[in-house]
Amino acid sequence: MSEIINVSAIAKVEKEKIRNRIEGYRAEGKATPTLASVIVGEDPGSVYYIDMQKKVLESLGGTMLKITLSQDVSEEELLSTIGELNEDDEVHGIMVLFPLPKHISEDRIAMKISPSKDVDGVNPINIGLLASSTGGIAPCTPSSVVEILKNTLGMLEGINAVIIGRSNIVGKPLIQLLLRENMTVTVCHSRTKELKNVAAGGEVLISAMGRPMMITEEYVGKGAVVIDVGTSEKDGKIVGDCDLLSVMKKARLATKVPGGVGTLTTTILMRTLVDLYDKSEA
Ligand code: NAP
Repeated sequence: MSEIINVSAIAKVEKEKIRNRIEGYRAEGKATPTLASVIVGEDPGSVYYIDMQKKVLESLGGTMLKITLSQDVSEEELLSTIGELNEDDEVHGIMVLFPLPKHISEDRIAMKISPSKDVDGVNPINIGLLASSTGGIAPCTPSSVVEILKNTLGMLEGINAVIIGRSNIVGKPLIQLLLRENMTVTVCHSRTKELKNVAAGGEVLISAMGRPMMITEEYVGKGAVVIDVGTSEKDGKIVGDCDLLSVMKKARLATKVPGGVGTLTTTILMRTLVDLYDKSEA
């Protein structure tokens, strides 16, 4: 019997934990966890995302500082804004929405965010720590995938996971996070041969390609757990990488799009903010 994973229920439990932590700080007379989100230009997708972050964080008792800069802001000005946020003791996390305009180097911006305030794990120091130790900060999307798997399967040790996608923001950090759980990890990408066979070998299949509904039952092993990270637009609708009806013929459990991984990411971002807050207070 195939089932859709109830990601909203996982998000609800996480939110309650975060709310309790923030209430605890208030009760002790401590500062409020504050996220500074910087948006350059007015890309509707980014504006929607940042407004949603604000709503979620405020509903949990935190504060969001929304900093909007014009599309033609110089790289120097953006670096200087981040420098000020790095120095501001009332700011515990910093997020700069990517993609940035072409005249600004995302690498330089990522490097400027203080590693101790880097809430979405984009600074190379955090990327390196994630790969080399138990420290580091992981981006919220791969962290959400791990949270869903832990909630669904409990112990992940020894389970074979196949990831399709090797981007810096999803696939690569996910490799490190799954290895930390002692899973056996295979990573596929656009040059992988026999993708269907490799994917079908996973007890867990995670697709993060952005290829609308490409994953059908042929890519899925019998009884597998399928996590769909992809979000694309097709015929005016948001769809995932998976053709869910087809995938469910083989999968035991799967996430849907919309209403899947994306339902949890903002919550996990806020959990990271509160973790950073705790470290700053320690
Ligand atoms: P990306 O940077 O474009 O990376 C896509 C990856 O998929 C690449 O590694 C690429 O391989 C691989 N790929 C593309 N076509 C393939 C194919 N036909 N067969 C095998 N591999 C293929 O994308 P991203 O930023 O990681 O995002 C991936 C998807 O996740 C997008 O749909 C994005 O919108 C979504 N996303 C969702 C959330 C969320 O909160 N739900 C958050 C972030 C991203 P190569 O490396 O060989 O090019």
